[in-house]
Amino acid sequence: MAKKKIKKQGKNWKKFWKLGMEEFNTQHFDVNANGDMIVNEGYYQYNIMDIVRKYGTMTEVFFPSILEHRVSDLIELFNAYIKILNYKGKFYYHYVMKSNQNREFVLPAIAEGSHIEVSSSNELFLVKRMLEQGKFNRKVRVTCNGPKTDEYIRLIEELRDKGLIIIPIIENTHELNRLKKFKGEVGVRVNLDVKIDAHWDKKYNHFGFDEEDLLKIGKIRNLSMLHYHISTQNEKVEGFIKPLKRAIALYAKLREQNPGLDTVNFGGGMPVPYEKRKKMISVKNLVNQMIKTAKKESDKLGVKHPNLVCEWGSYFTAPSQITLFKVIEEKSISNKSDTKWYFIDGSFITNLTDTWSVVRHKWHFAPANHLNARRLQKVWLAGSTCDADDRYTASGNYVLLPKLNEEIPDLYLVVFDTGSYQYTLSNNHCLISKPALVVCQNGEIKLSRKRQTPEELGKLFGWNGDHK
Ligand SMILES: *Cc1c(COP(=O)(O)O)cnc(C)c1O
Repeated sequence: MAKKKIKKQGKNWKKFWKLGMEEFNTQHFDVNANGDMIVNEGYYQYNIMDIVRKYGTMTEVFFPSILEHRVSDLIELFNAYIKILNYKGKFYYHYVMKSNQNREFVLPAIAEGSHIEVSSSNELFLVKRMLEQGKFNRKVRVTCNGPKTDEYIRLIEELRDKGLIIIPIIENTHELNRLKKFKGEVGVRVNLDVKIDAHWDKKYNHFGFDEEDLLKIGKIRNLSMLHYHISTQNEKVEGFIKPLKRAIALYAKLREQNPGLDTVNFGGGMPVPYEKRKKMISVKNLVNQMIKTAKKESDKLGVKHPNLVCEWGSYFTAPSQITLFKVIEEKSISNKSDTKWYFIDGSFITNLTDTWSVVRHKWHFAPANHLNARRLQKVWLAGSTCDADDRYTASGNYVLLPKLNEEIPDLYLVVFDTGSYQYTLSNNHCLISKPALVVCQNGEIKLSRKRQTPEELGKLFGWNGDHK
């Protein structure tokens, strides 16, 4: 009886906070009877408030099972359409190290069948470590993007001599000359002459060769891969299909002098539904269309179907982590009586740097506790640095959160999709600490990185404790 009554009275809180929705990547998230946020791994459930009580805030919480599902689902999806459509090329997914270099992220991705993409010499150094420790078998393939310093090229050569399949992606004539004698396969990056409707698509691009220049080079020793990377957060199917068509045409032309060219690498850019208001493109439909396009275009030109390499980064890493903050105080906003400031114990500038560096970047927020609170408050969120830009106003709109009162003295905040780029972009403005990292896997909750302490921060700035 009582149960029924509660249900009748209650709102559907799960739906209200956009939890349990596959299209928003929150299918693993739920609310318990107490109003706490729950995260499911199979039939195991983690209570976010247990993590708050044990490790405090600000804390990043990573769920390897979410990352693993996403990687294995995508590999299966590509392979399924390759089979259904009788496509002759192979599919390779390369985990994008720059989207999250934490060991806890990289190793499960590799264990699910990811190859690796690195963007710098230091990322490649981590690959060297894994190789030396026998962490992966020799079938793993590594693509190397980014400007190649001498150090970077030396490391590429060293790992190739150790038997790793490593493919430097040549971006300019300097690298072309420097890698002339490279014994392994190489790739080239093209700046495709195609415009798509995406925020990051720039009129002037400083990456890769222009199409014309690339064709003028003619033969490139050991060329096996044509690479392009158009944009990030590319929200339209056409934004993937248009460049792919163009790339296949170029692939066909380049093959005339480079018959060893057998792979098209279409880079990153699969969007993340950060805001959770509109549906993103369906990955199933996109994969279907991409394979169809690759097949149709190469058949038309009479070239063999290229292998396809995918380097989507944030699509995998962003949804597999959340960040927890505490609301530390509330304050009224002058001239805006219906909205309040909620201050958090972290910062948008230091911990959620995309808020600051990406124009109109949106996040989805929900409380970790009191998800069933009936009285809600329109808020703007303020970070803990002294910076006037350290805030989140949903672009002048508002965020709805439980109203603070005697019943709700403590409120904890969950920010979704924080698993890509945020930690490496984070900083210590006002000496705010970098957050702790907690990993939830196989029913266990482990602290993987402590929150920065004042002592550690002091040391970074030369305060070693021996100053008088
Ligand atoms: C950053 C980057 C990616 C990943 O981009 P996402 O938008 O995170 O998918 C892939 N390839 C290259 C070359 C990149 O620079």
